[in-house]
Amino acid sequence: MAAYELIDHEYDVVVVGAGGSGLRAALGAAQQGLKVACVTKVFPTRSHTVAAQGGISASLGNMGEDSWQWHMYDTVKGSDWLGDQDSIEYLVRNAPKAVYELEHWGVPFSRTEEGKIYQRAFGGMTRNFGEGPVQRTCAAADRTGHAILHTLYGQSVRREVKFFIEYFALDLIMQDGACTGVTALQLDNGQLHQFRAKMVVLATGGYGRAYFSATSAHTCTGDGNAMVLRAGLPLQDMEFVQFHPTGIYGAGCLITEGARGEGGYLTNSEGERFMERYAPTVKDLAPRDMVSRSMTIEIREGRGVGPNKDHIFLHLDHLDPKILHQRLPGISESAKIFAGVDVTKAPIPVLPTVHYNMGGIPTNYHGEVLTLRDGNPDSVVPGLMAVGEAACVSVHGANRLGSNSLTDLVVFGRAVGLRCGEVVDKASAVPSASKAQTDAHLARLDRFRNADGSTPTAELRLAMQKAMQADAAVFRTGDTLQQGTDKLRAIDAAGADIKTSDRGLIWNTDLMETLEYDNLIAQAVVTIESALNRTESRGAHAREDYPDRDDANWMKHTLAWKRPGEQVQIDYRPVHNYTMSDDIAYIEPKARVY
Ligand SMILES: Cc1cc2nc3c(=O)[nH]c(=O)nc-3n(C[C@H](O)[C@H](O)[C@H](O)COP(=O)(O)OP(=O)(O)OC[C@H]3O[C@@H](n4cnc5c(N)ncnc54)[C@H](O)[C@@H]3O)c2cc1C
Repeated sequence: MAAYELIDHEYDVVVVGAGGSGLRAALGAAQQGLKVACVTKVFPTRSHTVAAQGGISASLGNMGEDSWQWHMYDTVKGSDWLGDQDSIEYLVRNAPKAVYELEHWGVPFSRTEEGKIYQRAFGGMTRNFGEGPVQRTCAAADRTGHAILHTLYGQSVRREVKFFIEYFALDLIMQDGACTGVTALQLDNGQLHQFRAKMVVLATGGYGRAYFSATSAHTCTGDGNAMVLRAGLPLQDMEFVQFHPTGIYGAGCLITEGARGEGGYLTNSEGERFMERYAPTVKDLAPRDMVSRSMTIEIREGRGVGPNKDHIFLHLDHLDPKILHQRLPGISESAKIFAGVDVTKAPIPVLPTVHYNMGGIPTNYHGEVLTLRDGNPDSVVPGLMAVGEAACVSVHGANRLGSNSLTDLVVFGRAVGLRCGEVVDKASAVPSASKAQTDAHLARLDRFRNADGSTPTAELRLAMQKAMQADAAVFRTGDTLQQGTDKLRAIDAAGADIKTSDRGLIWNTDLMETLEYDNLIAQAVVTIESALNRTESRGAHAREDYPDRDDANWMKHTLAWKRPGEQVQIDYRPVHNYTMSDDIAYIEPKARVY
């Protein structure tokens, strides 16, 4: 192995990731007077959060009556009873505070006539425990994520968070079951770094790019999730992958659910508004798992649109062009560029597209990472936290409601900052790093840098993405999942023969993509094996061979472990069937009718 020199850094808290969750956590920890670094592979305002369109949910009640209890009920029901109810209570009770905080920091929310924050309708968000749609999603036109991310970045700089930009985090430094830091590659010059810290916070986002067609950025490769697997810790509920109903046909880029929130609707080849059949009360504003399945059924039964009858139409052409211009300017532009459609005149061709990972690193509602240890399913891993799409604090359970993710980022980002203030001792020494560990991280890097097999990374990646797209789809069966498992295990094993061509260390995108692919394949295998293992249908996991939800056997979280070169191991954690406080009772499971 080549000799690599490690530059050493010491911080109280190191946050990996500068999306909405990472920035909110970093600035929260800095507010506690801690010395904070934020390590990010892309420039902070290029994180995928920037692409969030539709908005952020909170029961402000600006457009009519609303309450956190209704928001809680919707989120539990949306999760198909897999969400942890204590975490959900924490989310919805703190959501209004978190939104006002963003407003005060400078997020330019759209306004009502009276100057209040404008709120739109979103899927699964209802009034009075399911009676009909409610307007709960706060929006800055259709560029809400952009507005939030820029504001949080400015505030983090103001709080003197130290940024390490275009640094690629490689692996967690673990000692006696605790995390004591992270290693990273500086992309522009190949310099290697070790960040020792009293607390490491993973805020590395989702892994949508395990699939061929996804709304997420190419950088969404779930690097933090894979670091957790390599550290011998489990990921939770990875079988639950959300398909957004309205990705632009062919291009895959997103048309926000806010389009339906503003009055848009879906039609099939007969011009029928078919969602009225599937969800008579909320229609086109049913949760995403239901809408995606309904669209897939329409296409399968021959009622798709277009020459190949393989997609669906989204109509906005009946809406006032002024409203479209004011509230949905971004998606009007996307539809023009990617589908050649003028939304004021014609419908947009759409198709369910991979959008969000409900699964991730298990945490409690303080953001502390959990594992199953000595029979305790809620055993805290010292020195390690996770937040945002990388985490599974389990507020989304088996299906996330639209606009609940941005809320998750800022509510739990804030919670992480507060918890760091409680558990990180400013006066204590920063732990040392084990050389054996960092050597192993460098050896992995060196192996990929010099990999001289016969299969280029891009070839393996494409095979993985196609297998996931075909076999871990909206509808699944034991057969397709078994097929997918076999394919993905073979692709994983073929990694031994991977080939990179660039041996340099200056902006080596070949090496970076290989590291990302290696991260993705581990998560792809875990996802499909968790899906094969769960013999029921719940939320986004729809098994045609097991069409019913099975609370007696399956109201539990999947935990999956996978170390490099080893098979997936599966165990479980109970769902938290209790709330945080006496203010609200546990919401009993029932059928999910909309
Ligand atoms: C197109 C689109 C629209 C959406 N719209 C909405 C919406 O309207 N409302 C809503 O609630 N949700 C929406 N979502 C979901 C939501 O935006 C995301 O779940 C959320 O933004 C994820 O934020 P995050 O902070 O977890 O991660 P991200 O914003 O994805 O950021 C990840 C960060 O981790 C860093 N990182 C990753 N790997 C490494 C590594 N190896 N080393 C160093 N740094 C690393 C990256 O540099 C980046 O800064 C949308 C998602 C998409 C894709």
